[in-house]
Amino acid sequence: MDHAATTPVRPEVARAMLPYFSERFGNPSSLYALAREAKEAVEEARGRVAAAIGARPEEIFFTSGGTEADNWAVKGVVAASRKKGDHIITSAIEHHAVLHPCRALEKQGYRVTYLPVDGYGRVDPERVGEAITNKTVLVSVMAANNEIGTIQPIAAIGRIAHDHGVPFHTDAVQAIGAYPVDVDAMGADLLAISAHKFGGPKGAGALYVRRGTRVGTFMDGGAQERGRRAGTENVPGIVGLGRAIDLAVGGMPQNPTRLAAMRDRLIRGILDGIPDTRLNGHPTERLANNANISFRYVEGESILLSLDALGVAASTGSACTSASLEPSHVLTACGLPPEHAHGSLRLTLGSRNTDEDVDYVLSVLPGVIERLRAISPLRGEA
Ligand SMILES: *Cc1c(COP(=O)(O)O)cnc(C)c1O
Repeated sequence: MDHAATTPVRPEVARAMLPYFSERFGNPSSLYALAREAKEAVEEARGRVAAAIGARPEEIFFTSGGTEADNWAVKGVVAASRKKGDHIITSAIEHHAVLHPCRALEKQGYRVTYLPVDGYGRVDPERVGEAITNKTVLVSVMAANNEIGTIQPIAAIGRIAHDHGVPFHTDAVQAIGAYPVDVDAMGADLLAISAHKFGGPKGAGALYVRRGTRVGTFMDGGAQERGRRAGTENVPGIVGLGRAIDLAVGGMPQNPTRLAAMRDRLIRGILDGIPDTRLNGHPTERLANNANISFRYVEGESILLSLDALGVAASTGSACTSASLEPSHVLTACGLPPEHAHGSLRLTLGSRNTDEDVDYVLSVLPGVIERLRAISPLRGEA
């Protein structure tokens, strides 16, 4: 139950990728039949990704994943807009793939506004308008949050950025396959995608760049990706991305509807069955597969260890930060007091989860929490 961290590659996707490791191993840049086959496969995948998000094929650039797409969007737009200004607007709850490039740019002298969020993790679009100055070169707000599942009012934010003539980037890594993503409806000029979050392979992703948006190159070298992202293409990965996005988008809305029913049963079962709990994130504007709940008086890490011993894979905060004992920046930005922020559990459902899995978690979790609370030094303070 940790599908926000990654998902298994769908069997159809793996089958589609396989030939491009062996008999169709050509380098798309070479000039013979074997290479043309690889080139055609890459272009077919580009068409699939474009169709899935309402874009044109020439607006899709393949990357090594979501992190690279976010880095490229942030650093690339800033590099191409030096003459215009030095100010970036983002939110306090972005994935580190956006936050850390912003911090790096701050060290170089750029100014970054980290917009606050409300208790549910939502950015107020009006705040975006208020933060824009004549030096603002980029607005970057994620479509849906990977920790708490909150879906942002992206279309409203995109409209405000456009009204001010500022390019708008959105990290849509968690949104693909969860709900309809359309670059025009969202008002997105740049949009990041990662294959392994929706049944595709790790190490494959894409950045959408609206025609006319100025972005610097990210990798210098060969002429791949029309000279904007050098390096021999990850052909099997790109083929897998194309197949996976087709299947993910084609599976809507049935798959998210099935997951939302399981999610709601999980949330209700936990909140009703265990005292001193609260739901994190928005009650309705949230990803279909995301349940994030805080348990007072216990540490999220201890819950994970107990669940792991019972065969349940889950997360507390972001998988990338769980090695640290700091409460997650997302929960902190939502205003959670530390005693709630420390005891958070994220369960994210996926295609292989069943109603029996939900029953199992609901049957073991109360005992886990009760045992941990019985030995918790935090308990006596209440
Ligand atoms: C996973 C994730 C990323 C990073 O994508 P990778 O392909 O793993 O580098 C970026 N943003 C969000 C919201 C994510 O969930």
